Amino acid sequence: MRPAALIPLFASAKSLSGIGPRMDLLLRKALRLPPGITEPRVIDLLWHTPTGVIDRRAAPTVAAAQPGTIATLEVRVLKHKPAPRGNVKAPYKVPCEDDTGRIDLVFFHAERKFIERQLPVGSIRFVSGRIESYNDRKQMAHPDYIVAPESRADLPLLEPVYPLTAGLSGKVVLKAVRHALDRVPDLPEWQDAAWLERQAWPGIRTALSRLHRPQDAADVSAASPPWMRIAYDELLAGQLALELVRQSLKSQPGRSIAGDGRIRARIADALPFALTNSQRHALKEIADDMAAEFRMLRLLQGDVGSGKTVVALMAMAIAVEGGAQAALMAPTEVLARQHAETIAPLADASGLRIALLTGREKGRPRAELLERLGSGEIDIVIGTHALFQPDVVFKDLAFAVIDEQHRFGVHQRLALQTKGGNGGANVLVMTATPIPRTLLMTHYGDLDVSRLTEKPAGRKPIVTKAIPVEAIERLVERLRVQLTEGAQVYWVCPLIESSGQSELAAAEERHAHLVQLFGAAKVGLLHGGMQDKAKDATMAAFAANHLKILVATTVIEVGVNVPNANIMVIEHAERFGLAQLHQLRGRVGRGSRESFCMLLYKTPLGETARQRLEMMEKTEDGFAIAEKDLELRGGGEVLGARQSGMPEFRVAEVPAFAELLGAARDDARLVLSQDPHLASPRGRALRLLLYLFECDEAVRLFRAA
Ligand code: ADP
Ligand code: MG
Repeated sequence: MRPAALIPLFASAKSLSGIGPRMDLLLRKALRLPPGITEPRVIDLLWHTPTGVIDRRAAPTVAAAQPGTIATLEVRVLKHKPAPRGNVKAPYKVPCEDDTGRIDLVFFHAERKFIERQLPVGSIRFVSGRIESYNDRKQMAHPDYIVAPESRADLPLLEPVYPLTAGLSGKVVLKAVRHALDRVPDLPEWQDAAWLERQAWPGIRTALSRLHRPQDAADVSAASPPWMRIAYDELLAGQLALELVRQSLKSQPGRSIAGDGRIRARIADALPFALTNSQRHALKEIADDMAAEFRMLRLLQGDVGSGKTVVALMAMAIAVEGGAQAALMAPTEVLARQHAETIAPLADASGLRIALLTGREKGRPRAELLERLGSGEIDIVIGTHALFQPDVVFKDLAFAVIDEQHRFGVHQRLALQTKGGNGGANVLVMTATPIPRTLLMTHYGDLDVSRLTEKPAGRKPIVTKAIPVEAIERLVERLRVQLTEGAQVYWVCPLIESSGQSELAAAEERHAHLVQLFGAAKVGLLHGGMQDKAKDATMAAFAANHLKILVATTVIEVGVNVPNANIMVIEHAERFGLAQLHQLRGRVGRGSRESFCMLLYKTPLGETARQRLEMMEKTEDGFAIAEKDLELRGGGEVLGARQSGMPEFRVAEVPAFAELLGAARDDARLVLSQDPHLASPRGRALRLLLYLFECDEAVRLFRAA
């Protein structure tokens, strides 16, 4: 499938010289690998963009070298002065000189063999690092580079600085990236020639090389031509892929499905509340889409607690009224189960036959379920990724709902769609992360959007307070009072990477602490490493109000619904992004009780963190929070892979490239309108671009066409 020219770029990074298993593991941590990729590849190194440069071009004489600056010196090695025996604190010194003066190279905890090999007495060496002054003598501690004259080219005069991880040095990454650069083949130009010239952008190969071998400090900035070029490549690939998906949807026969409303009426009767205007409006938009002749692809956006589930259920009922089936897919096991539980009584009341299919359904029960799905005895199936498995075959799937969409990729959306009979399924994707408009376009293209802007009636505001962790004792006292009044508490402990402590350990420690204060019967613990059964049991005990406090790692991030829970405590709130804080807070405030969100932070608080917490105290409006988040963090992270699983940009960071985005979209449309099969020379080159940015699914679409 992948064009031969690109195969070397997608080889494992271990195929590069100098990258062994240990380095591979470190790279796994340091590189932002796309979802589903666990092994770093050559291409991932190329996309590992530097964050700055160290300028080593200053090459003064020893006499002229200024303490406090970075310099590259040419010196002769005079002698070696190992640390005196028994004095581990004293450094190993290597006095050197040039015609103007002397300087000591200084090594603490030195490896003697290494130094002797690097700096033979009498040899000439180029050394680069920070000049210091110690007891009136010049010195350079642990030079960044020591090279012999014949290897001078190995010493980068402008050294790109890469994001690293503990145990991984910049020098090693630099070397690996340079080996990766050697693998970049000559590729045909896929950008429009006139446009390239107007922008004064280099070709892709030059651009990559300039990014990693900067000629100028400005090369390593998002505004530089090489960087812009690559960002535009990425945006164009994304827009082309989305446009291809859209075209393919539009070109395939859609299916018109309309219901008579009888099941929806029964559901409405069984609901203890009336739908909000927002919900009603969204449902009308969905029903219109379903009744239309094209294939539906709509995004339902609504803050946590805005009531998306019931909209999904009503929409699925339309498909069933029309004689077909529907599916609801959730990103996690817990959520799928919760949806099934919420929907079960309403299904009972309205005569809908539902089933649950997750990775846990196995063997006979699973086979039976598939059988009933195939024969049409199940109207609605609720599940996880398990719904994608090839042996899951529907009698007639007309409508699929994907909850918390951005945990899934575009390809998964397509996979579910293709399971639909009679012209494919209509698809509704639901997300609780309000997405700013600019980002909507990059990630969803021209999806039709419905928004739930109204909160269900009777909701009270969630009182939100940021407090320093030192005030935890006072918080605990307040909780004690609240608990006697029937409150239930979520207590979230995040991963604290720098402490070396695992997320689990942090949660366990807090759990033990709270058990001591409130008793083991009242305090539960939920974390990702637990067995499914234990997880369910804990969740159930909390939902049944047996447990009063639920200490959790971030596994409760999405969707969990316990209306009686009214207090959310978030530890290390300063480490969370706004979108995530907002999502977590949305777990409370669902019942009639007054709700609180306590954001515990560690001092001192950085400026961005301070603004985030302030925003949380100020508003509950998810759309306002999303815009602020975009402002504070930049787009790549708002929908960051880390927190959402969304395929993230490798190079292009919105909003820095927001302007290019519009151009990329127009470009993609124009190209496909003139060359729908990408058969022209530029079209063929664009196929390479799609593969380069791993939009393989999109390529498959026009292969099939
Ligand atoms: P989300 O949009 O986060 O998925 P849910 O669908 O889980 O929200 O709904 C949150 C809660 O609000 C549920 O308990 C649900 O029964 C309730 N709810 C939904 N719609 C309404 C409404 N129109 N009036 C009152 N409560 C509602
Ligand atoms: Mg939900």
